[in-house]
Amino acid sequence: MQSATVFNIQKFSLNDGPGIRTVVFLKGCPLRCAWCSNPESQQRAPQLEWKESACVGCGACLAAAPNANVAEHAGKRHLDVRGLRGDSDEAQAAVRACPSHALTCTGATKTVNEVLRVCLQDQPFYEDSGGGVTLSGGEALTWPAFCEELLCALHDQGIDTCIETEAHVPTETFQRIAALLDHMLVDLKHVDATKLRVHTAGQAELMLGNLRWAIANHPDVLPRTPVIPGFNDGIEDARAMARWLRGAGATRVQLLPFHNYGEGKYALLNMPYGLHGTKNLHSEDLEEYRQIYLDEGIEAFF
Ligand code: SF4
Repeated sequence: MQSATVFNIQKFSLNDGPGIRTVVFLKGCPLRCAWCSNPESQQRAPQLEWKESACVGCGACLAAAPNANVAEHAGKRHLDVRGLRGDSDEAQAAVRACPSHALTCTGATKTVNEVLRVCLQDQPFYEDSGGGVTLSGGEALTWPAFCEELLCALHDQGIDTCIETEAHVPTETFQRIAALLDHMLVDLKHVDATKLRVHTAGQAELMLGNLRWAIANHPDVLPRTPVIPGFNDGIEDARAMARWLRGAGATRVQLLPFHNYGEGKYALLNMPYGLHGTKNLHSEDLEEYRQIYLDEGIEAFF
């Protein structure tokens, strides 16, 4: 039986495919975009998180994990969460030793059956709403064998399947798993290879090739563009992406205005947040941007 590192299973989601859905978030992502709102999804392994407001600076974590690196914030010396796997013996000893629950572990190894059991709990809601289960991340497709086994098991139970993906995986993997999905929500971050390389760790050729294939071959693909200030929020950016979509045969795109709701999570992981101070975007800020798509015959919506 396959297993993967799961960092969240979110029930009653209404924004991740049709109907009421359970979203299974898998850890591990090759892109590490600066605006990522789930930084805990980037590393593949379970990770420790440290909450400054809860830490009393007692040092019990350092005593429990003597080989761990030391970090210091506001005069509090504590274990540096970046240096240890969250599920290692040392990390778990530190979590247990912390008297104020300032240390927690995000992500745990789960088998297909464990995840399936949780998904099945809400089967009546899927049936009533036309919903199902969505795989997300991170990049869920970095766990291809797990995805394949889970998707087959869901279909065996008559459950509708969907994925949120950046399509930054080998083409053979992408196409094999696409065949097991009822819906695909695929990121189109940009069509400019240089911008993609500078702002993410992504290769344009791979992502665009997979998305182009999906639009041509899969019955239900929705391209989605996170609109990020300084990366792809210009009118010329919109024009380039709209033309690419039209050329690929797409008829619609969902625009996801930038938000900084994930910023607080960076502090928990002792990671820098590259978009600190960047203002959130709202749909009313993007009317001209959206019009570019409409002019190219692409139904753009929020
Ligand atoms: S044991 Fe907990 S409260 Fe004490 S220093 Fe470590 S993280 Fe802070």
